[in-house]
Amino acid sequence: MIRSWIKTGAAGALSRTGMDKMVGSLAGSRGVPIVIGYHRVVEDFTASAATSIPSMLVSRQMLERHLDWIGQRFRFVSLDEVGARLEGRDGSRDPIAAITFDDGYRDFYDHALPLLQRKGVPATVFVVTGLVDTTGVQLHDRLYLLLARRGEARSLKAAQLARLLQDLGIAVPSVVANTPYLATQTLLEALSQESLQKVVALLESESPIPDDTFKPFYSLTWEMLERIHRAGITIGSHTKTHVIMTNETGPRVVNEVTGSKEAIEKKLGTQVRHFAYPSGQFNPSSVRAVAKAGYRFGYTVCTHRDARFPQLTVPRTLLWENSCRDFRGAFSGPILNCQVHRAFDVVSGCRQPHQMNQECGHAQ
Ligand SMILES: [Zn+2]
Ligand SMILES: [Zn+2]
Repeated sequence: MIRSWIKTGAAGALSRTGMDKMVGSLAGSRGVPIVIGYHRVVEDFTASAATSIPSMLVSRQMLERHLDWIGQRFRFVSLDEVGARLEGRDGSRDPIAAITFDDGYRDFYDHALPLLQRKGVPATVFVVTGLVDTTGVQLHDRLYLLLARRGEARSLKAAQLARLLQDLGIAVPSVVANTPYLATQTLLEALSQESLQKVVALLESESPIPDDTFKPFYSLTWEMLERIHRAGITIGSHTKTHVIMTNETGPRVVNEVTGSKEAIEKKLGTQVRHFAYPSGQFNPSSVRAVAKAGYRFGYTVCTHRDARFPQLTVPRTLLWENSCRDFRGAFSGPILNCQVHRAFDVVSGCRQPHQMNQECGHAQ
């Protein structure tokens, strides 16, 4: 609550004085078009937040408020137009913004697409190709759901989980004591996909989740993607299986970035130029793999750029239902203003090490 008061007060003061743009430019957004990222778009935020990571949700109603506010101040463009601006090919400097949606959830088709079409807003969907046309569910969604239930599930063999995590090199107290969201984040940041699958399998063996619970997390089908593509939405890649690229071996990363590009190009007959790093996690070797696979532009979730591949480390701002609410819980234009100009980055920063060396330093 206190944080919220401070945020609201700071956002109002910053916005009134125009400081947000100045602070934002310090955080790295100068000359870089605004690129916004969302995940799931739902009918009812509160109902969906009971089973989903809340910061991956935005209601259709709140999304519309965001789009209205942004649309009054920026010209909405596609990511190809963002690319033209980044490469200095569009010859203008008016403020532009692009809207993106990560992970390829099916609710994009039901809730976001009609809204975007009604408003004439171009957008991009970053797809996890291995989940398209399946009833598979993202590991992070499964893990969160299992950890959120864990508090209630008295039967969980806590010692067994602790032993598994210890074997995987995870500091057990920090995971066990955290909220389900922080525990999910800690595990995602630390473990390879293979290890994560082991954790998920153990938790599932303790407390199986009924299949119906996973329905809202299903991915788009190729048929839906064809229609979305025909409607003018850009389809980008978000790997084959949403691996956190910094936790995987080189060949696995290469397979994920090339395989997903090839799958979309083959199915939709279109060239895939845009790539979003799962969870925004990147290091020099993952950026190199993205370059080698032939992508022109890559999108992160922080302001760090790889000096050798600045167009493959383009900053994005992730927004969700509550990211632009004031202390009363009401939508706040000044807070959204600070979010799009990345004014809060000065305070919150980026937790990722990125493992950049001197040859490939952070360029902000
Ligand atoms: Zn993602
Ligand atoms: Zn960073």
